[in-house]
Amino acid sequence: MLFLTFILTLLTPNQDSLSVWYMHHSGWMVETDNHLIIFDYFPDELDDKNRNSVSSLLSQKIEDVDKPVVFIISHRHKDHYSKAIYQWKDLDRVRYVYGWEYDSDVDSFIAAPPGSQNLTAGDLMILKSIQSTDQGSGLLIAVDDMVIFHGGDHAQWASEYKAQFRSELDKIAAYDGEIDLVFMPISRGTCGEVTPDLTEGIIYALDKLKPKYFFPMHVRCVDRIPLYKSFTDGIKDRFPLVQFRYGIFPGKAFTISLK
Ligand SMILES: [Zn+2]
Repeated sequence: MLFLTFILTLLTPNQDSLSVWYMHHSGWMVETDNHLIIFDYFPDELDDKNRNSVSSLLSQKIEDVDKPVVFIISHRHKDHYSKAIYQWKDLDRVRYVYGWEYDSDVDSFIAAPPGSQNLTAGDLMILKSIQSTDQGSGLLIAVDDMVIFHGGDHAQWASEYKAQFRSELDKIAAYDGEIDLVFMPISRGTCGEVTPDLTEGIIYALDKLKPKYFFPMHVRCVDRIPLYKSFTDGIKDRFPLVQFRYGIFPGKAFTISLK
């Protein structure tokens, strides 16, 4: 039996590349071998051109790929939770994961409030959800042999959040395995402002989580998107083993190699 398992492992190698799209603000779409995953989709405040661009990208993907689709919503703030995601709720292969005590008897609606562990959404596993320093959860998920952390609103927003930020983040760092992709907020305010506290929090997180890829997020105004680049340029030399990827415009695509 052990031998058979070994042979099967050789025949089914881990996924080695995938696609990621920056969908604006904290919204990301990740396409793996067998899943389409959408985090914190928020097209609502975009101008027509950008909103059409991300919404047609998403609709087309959902129609084109014959894969399970999982929407993950970290919390209820309107900049992370758009009702636009419900236009696909009647499709059998679509599920929704909520980072709070979401009350529903619909099987495809899965509540993963802070403190949850090892919940399933089809073949996707929610390994852990932590209490964000704002509302709802940061979620560590495993899907198709890879592991992703999306922080939601978990950040060191100001110095008084430092202790809570670190103790919750440490629960993710305690995961016994490699983390492939990390998405976390680097900016606060209605439009976008990077602060020394936020930067300190990200440096702490990257030291602890050591992801293969880091994607900064949470810049709300399109004309402030260059903050991602300036933030990245300021810290990337400290982390030679982390690959940084950042949004340049809503809908920006990335091909990620995990080899
Ligand atoms: Zn937020």
